[in-house]
Amino acid sequence: MNTSDRAVAAYLGLAIGDALGSTVEFMTPREIALQYGIHDTLRGGGWLHLKPGQVTDDTAMSLALGKSILAEGRVDALASAHAFDAWMRSKPVDIGNTVRRNLIQFRKTGHPEAPYSVHDAGNGAAMRVLPVALATLSHSENAVRTACRAQAHVTHNCTLSDAACETLVFMVQDALHGRDKNHLLQQHAHQLVARHPEFRFRSIKSVSNPSGYIADTVQAVFQSFFDTNDFASCLIDVVNRGGDADTTGAIAGMLAGALYGLDAIPDLWLKTLDPDIALQCKQQAMKLILVD
Ligand code: MN
Ligand code: MN
Repeated sequence: MNTSDRAVAAYLGLAIGDALGSTVEFMTPREIALQYGIHDTLRGGGWLHLKPGQVTDDTAMSLALGKSILAEGRVDALASAHAFDAWMRSKPVDIGNTVRRNLIQFRKTGHPEAPYSVHDAGNGAAMRVLPVALATLSHSENAVRTACRAQAHVTHNCTLSDAACETLVFMVQDALHGRDKNHLLQQHAHQLVARHPEFRFRSIKSVSNPSGYIADTVQAVFQSFFDTNDFASCLIDVVNRGGDADTTGAIAGMLAGALYGLDAIPDLWLKTLDPDIALQCKQQAMKLILVD
């Protein structure tokens, strides 16, 4: 399996996880079980009344960022801010509170970095990191961290968000290079927990109804990702926890796509994903890994 197959799978995985999770976003596991048994199809609906295979802000902001990286030839804070602002003007189906507040601030100041705030520890920067991982594949660790922060700080200037974004990017990059799940666990997930115990995901009970707080999101994603052995099981496990399910689904889908590759994604999910979005994901993935 080559790098570009894994890159395409990561991008499609992100979109599929978003589309799958959006149906059950803000539901509890009990409500999901009562309504669907196990939710495992791209059926749309949910609080946003989506069509089957339709995606939300997680995928849309990733595509907006990816487009700006391709236009600039690099990850640029101001270009990212303009791309996100243009996306916000397009009247998206959903938008996070922190994203909206700091983009409105950007419109006033023209400064593409939100003020530092420990309270901006939402998952809104982490949900859209994939294009950075793809575009900085061959870069030094420091350059990768700088690129992560340039895009993240447009809306989320917060230590915990940065730590999560950077860890996710390094995990995707190592998976694209063919490293196995145990490597991702030992080298990245455990390191993140060692530095920031807020992310501890072992020796805690199964995460249920994860909020948009980045530590909740990462804990749910890591439990599902490390405790399953294939793409579909990982995504089904994480979205049936409910809560911010489109975002846990998107992040888990990105990791699982990068690790397990294109052949591991169920055909029915690929067929149901919005075809225009699927095309954009594929094209961006192929082009972003060539950005140097
Ligand atoms: Mn969303
Ligand atoms: Mn969400």
